[in-house]
Amino acid sequence: MDSEREEKQVGGVRLRNLNFILIVPALILCFLLLFATYRARVEYSRLQEATERYIGSQQDVSAMQAASDYLTEQVRVFAVTGDPAAMDRYFEEVNVTRRRDDALAAMNEYLAGTETYGYLNQALAVSNELMQRELYAMRLAAAGFGLGDDRLAPEVLAVTLSGEDAGLTDNAQRQKARDMVFDDVYQNYRARIAENTALCSAALIDGTQASQNASAGKVSRLFGMHQLLVTALILLVCGLVLATSRLMINPLGSAVEHIRRHEELPLRGSYEMRYLARTYNELREQNTQDRQKLSYEASHDALTGLLNRAAFEKARQQYSHENVAMLLIDVDKFKTFNDTYGHDVGDRILQKVAGLLQHSFRSEDFVCRIGGDEFAVIMLHAGKSLEGLVRGKIDALNATLGAPEDGLPPASLSVGVAFGDRDDPTDDIFKDADTALYYTKEHGRRGVSFY
Ligand code: GH3
Ligand code: MG
Repeated sequence: MDSEREEKQVGGVRLRNLNFILIVPALILCFLLLFATYRARVEYSRLQEATERYIGSQQDVSAMQAASDYLTEQVRVFAVTGDPAAMDRYFEEVNVTRRRDDALAAMNEYLAGTETYGYLNQALAVSNELMQRELYAMRLAAAGFGLGDDRLAPEVLAVTLSGEDAGLTDNAQRQKARDMVFDDVYQNYRARIAENTALCSAALIDGTQASQNASAGKVSRLFGMHQLLVTALILLVCGLVLATSRLMINPLGSAVEHIRRHEELPLRGSYEMRYLARTYNELREQNTQDRQKLSYEASHDALTGLLNRAAFEKARQQYSHENVAMLLIDVDKFKTFNDTYGHDVGDRILQKVAGLLQHSFRSEDFVCRIGGDEFAVIMLHAGKSLEGLVRGKIDALNATLGAPEDGLPPASLSVGVAFGDRDDPTDDIFKDADTALYYTKEHGRRGVSFY
């Protein structure tokens, strides 16, 4: 409760609260920014991948179509010319180069199970179906051209001609073989293959576009978020800079200026800065008071409150010129007061004498207690012309002390005075005043003598 009240009294925002208002949100924003950047990179890679996959798959579709066209070309050359090299090239494509199978396998890696893959698979299936017709045509052509079995590929050799076809003339066999690879049935197969590769290509474009659009949309949204986060972060950083200047940097700067000028610190900035300033001010105030007290105690007498011996010596050095008067005052037979009435009464008499002396002289004069029952007054701007005035003051003092109304016993003072402009001075005005005092003591006490 106390610390709460103190907090309210001191005022200002606690620096600790900046953590929650600015620093923690800034850290969260930084984290979100990193996350958004990472997500944008991922989406961008996806965009790139989709493009690469499109190019690769489009090549697969082309390879399927090209290989199929190549087989048609070679089977037709063989059917027309009976050149076994064409048959060899045909089977080289089917068994060694295998562009159709490789294309499908490659697409299977990325697009297995998709519509795109389905079309390419279908194209291969139709192409394989067509191969049965082509093998038969090649077997028929081989018979028509009278090629020996050793010149035929095993796949062709495995085909058995129908009885009807086997019975045809060479010419008719060649004619039928040609027809089989040029007729409408054959063309229809080829059209189905072409249709499937075209559909595959179209599906590929659609799929690629869809995936690119999705990634591009995400990238664009992430960039929007990025922009928003950066703006918020900039605002937070500005806030942080502003808050730090207002709460710490400026108050610290001004505090240093005030300390240099030995001034009190203004209460400004954060709670912590205000707290420090307040503590500094309190210590400073305490220090000033302590110093004043110490300096008072060093120059004043505790019992009477008059200037003490040390202050007297200082004033004596300072005002050693001619235009002063030195008065040495001693209480007569003071010891007997102590002995008769006790030390307390002695003290009260000393305090009474001090008060009377303080009243009797001007505020610019130095009234001091320089020993047990010894007092001294340094009067400024005073010459021997003031002898009468001084005597009057002392007589008045003795009159007051001699007829007490305060219950204290009657007392008297012996005084010795030396003026700065005295006749036959020694080099020390104090010594001359002491000589005068001695004279008073020797001549019945209670009174004043002038050197
Ligand atoms: P004289 O007329 O010759 O001056 O005689 P005196 O008795 O005054 O003699 P002296 O000046 O030697 O005595 C001063 C006495 O003052 C001695 C000491 O015991 C006493 N005294 C010194 N300081 C204090 C003080 O602070 N309080 C009290 N009560 N007495 C003090
Ligand atoms: Mg005395």
